[in-house]
Amino acid sequence: MTSQEPLNGFTGFNRKNTNFQYSRAFEEAKSAGKKPLEQERIDAIEETDRRWAWMEIDLSAIRHNILEARRRMRPGSQLCAVVKADAYGHGAERVARTALNAGAEMLAVATVDEAVELRRAGISAYILLLSEPPIGAIDLLLGYQIVPSIYTVEFALAYAETADLHGLRAPYHLAVNTGMNRIGVRAEDIVEFLRQVNFHRALDLQGTFTHFATADCPENLDFNIQVNRFTETINAMRTAGIDPGIVHAANSAALLRYPEVHFDMCRLGISLYGFHPCEETRHLVNLEPAMKVLARVTDCKTVPMSEGVSYGLNYRSPGSVKICTVPLGYADGLNRALSGRVNFILDGQYCRQVGNICMDQCMFEVDLRTYGTRQRLNPQIGDLVTIVGKQGDAVTTITEMAYTLHSIEHEICIAFSHRLPRLYV
Ligand SMILES: *Cc1c(COP(=O)(O)O)cnc(C)c1O
Repeated sequence: MTSQEPLNGFTGFNRKNTNFQYSRAFEEAKSAGKKPLEQERIDAIEETDRRWAWMEIDLSAIRHNILEARRRMRPGSQLCAVVKADAYGHGAERVARTALNAGAEMLAVATVDEAVELRRAGISAYILLLSEPPIGAIDLLLGYQIVPSIYTVEFALAYAETADLHGLRAPYHLAVNTGMNRIGVRAEDIVEFLRQVNFHRALDLQGTFTHFATADCPENLDFNIQVNRFTETINAMRTAGIDPGIVHAANSAALLRYPEVHFDMCRLGISLYGFHPCEETRHLVNLEPAMKVLARVTDCKTVPMSEGVSYGLNYRSPGSVKICTVPLGYADGLNRALSGRVNFILDGQYCRQVGNICMDQCMFEVDLRTYGTRQRLNPQIGDLVTIVGKQGDAVTTITEMAYTLHSIEHEICIAFSHRLPRLYV
C-alpha cells in the first residue's frame, strides 16, 4: 500500500503545501530587505531563557564545606578534592578551581578523560587518577601529567618503560586492598609487589593509599581491621626501606569521624558538596549543600474532579486543585520512581508532585483551599518552582530523595547533571 491509497476509504484532510524550506525563506527575506537574525545574538541567549529548568551551584557552599573539613583535619594532613563524575554532578572545572582556591592541595578523578578535561580547561594542579587505566592510555597519563593508581605489575612496568622511552619519570600512587576487595594489591603482598617492580628506575612511588568499605557505617569493627592492615602495610614498607610517599586513606566519612586515619592526606568527596556521609556526622559539622534544582511553571490549569494526570492517569484530580507542569523529568535526573513521592516548593509552600514523572516534564498539584495560616496560592505560567533547595521556610533535599529511593546522595546529584544547564552563583 502506498501513502496515496485510501485507508478504509479515508483520503486524508486537505493538506496545505508543506514544502516550506528555511534556506529559501531566509533568501527571500533577505531580498525583501528584512532584518536578518544575528548569529551572535541568538547564540548568546541565556540558558534560563532556552529552558525553564536548570540547576544552581553555590560555589561559596563548596568553599564553606572545604573549610569545615579542614577545621577537623589533623594539622599537616593535606586535602584532596574528589571531583570525579563531573564533581558529583556539580561541574568539575568550576568546583576544582574553587576547591584549589579554598586550599585543597590536590584533585582526584576516576577516569583518564575526566583528568584530561581538567587539563584542557587549564588546571595545572596535581591530579590523581583513582584507578589503573588500560595500558593503552599510558601516553595520555604522561602527556597530560595525570598520576595513576597502580596495582598490577604489568601496568607498572609498561608505564615505567614508556616514561623511560620519553626521558620522563613515572609517578604513581600504590593502591592497597585492605578489605574492601575492589582494587589494589592485597596488603600482605605489598612488599613482594614492590620487589617485582622497583628495579625500574623510572617508577616513582609518590603515594600509598587504601579505601574504606565501612567508614560510614555505625559499627567500626571492619573499619578497624582495615586500619590495622593499612598501618601494618605502611610499617612493613618502611622496614623494607621503601618510602610510601603520601599516605592516605580517609574519604568524607573517615575524615569527619576518625582523626586517627587522616595520615598525610584525606580525600574529600560527598561532603565537599555539602552532604553528610552518614547519620553519625550530622552533629559533627555544619555542611551546606551546593546544588539547587529550579524550574518555572510551563502550564497551569484546573483539572475537573476525577480526571487523570500523566501517563497511566494514576493520579485523579480531587477538583479543588490546579495542576502545574514543569519542564524536567527523568532524563534530567528526577528519577521516575519518585513519582507522587516528592514535594516541590511554590511561593514558599510545599506542593505534591503528582502523576507519573515523564521523560522531560512532570506535574504537581496546587491545593486551592485555604486552611490554618496557609495562604491561597495562585499559580501562573512562569512562576519559580524549587525542586531541590530552600524557598522561604520550605526545603526539599537530595537527601530525602536518596532516602525515598533507597539510594545515596551521590547517585541523585549525578543524575541531575545529565541535561540540566548549570548556573554558578
Ligand atoms: C569516590 C572516592 C572517594 C570520595 O568518597 P566520598 O565518600 O564521596 O567522600 C575517596 N576515595 C576513593 C578511592 C574514591 O573512589
